[in-house]
Amino acid sequence: MTAAPEEHHVAPLLVLATHNQGKLRELRDLLRGQVPGLDVDTQVVDAGAVGAPDVAETGVTFAENSLLKARAVAQATGLVAIADDSGLAVDVLGGAPGIFSARWAGRHGDDAANLRLLLGQLADVPDEHRGAAFVCAAALAVPGLAPGDGREVVEFGQLEGTLLREPRGTGGFGYDPVLRPHGLDRSCAELSSQEKNAISHRGHAFRALLPAIVEALAGR
Ligand code: IMP
Repeated sequence: MTAAPEEHHVAPLLVLATHNQGKLRELRDLLRGQVPGLDVDTQVVDAGAVGAPDVAETGVTFAENSLLKARAVAQATGLVAIADDSGLAVDVLGGAPGIFSARWAGRHGDDAANLRLLLGQLADVPDEHRGAAFVCAAALAVPGLAPGDGREVVEFGQLEGTLLREPRGTGGFGYDPVLRPHGLDRSCAELSSQEKNAISHRGHAFRALLPAIVEALAGR
């Protein structure tokens, strides 16, 4: 008789407040080899893996929204939690769509309608004034034993570029087909995910958070 294979259940240590598997992969890749003893593939998990609640983004800044999500998920799960909030900030629109990026055309997550509306709004704006950036706030929340004695950190990242007049490329999501990063001759939707992650607003924000993540996980 063969013995059943022994199962190892390694407890999660860090939860990313998202259901987006691309974001989870990005965070795991960033953390690989950075935290002694951390098995990123089993101990860094998404919200669904630990039944973390979906948190309404009721803040009015990226930082507020990322903190709201990280704090609520840390409290609900007792785990160190990371959350991000991001969007597109267009120079001539004074930073809009900003926190409204996902619902700029009215319906949350309608990427095609959001893109169409934005390109229409900017139709008369000449190339030299089409600057814009993807912006990301990433928050870390460490649950405390008593309410109010946890720790929180927020870091930011940006990917600056120019808005094209027509969508280009089929990769990525959201406004990727219309943002051409400075120094490149391709839109974000024409980059591989590795190329995009290396320069992305989220990559910068997650990397800036790394020392706080390492400190928060030390000894857990
Ligand atoms: P969230 O932070 O994932 O909720 O993103 C909010 C919205 O910002 C998305 O729905 C997109 O419209 C836009 N956005 C954020 N990051 C990116 C990106 O890397 N590429 C394209 N659009 C983005």
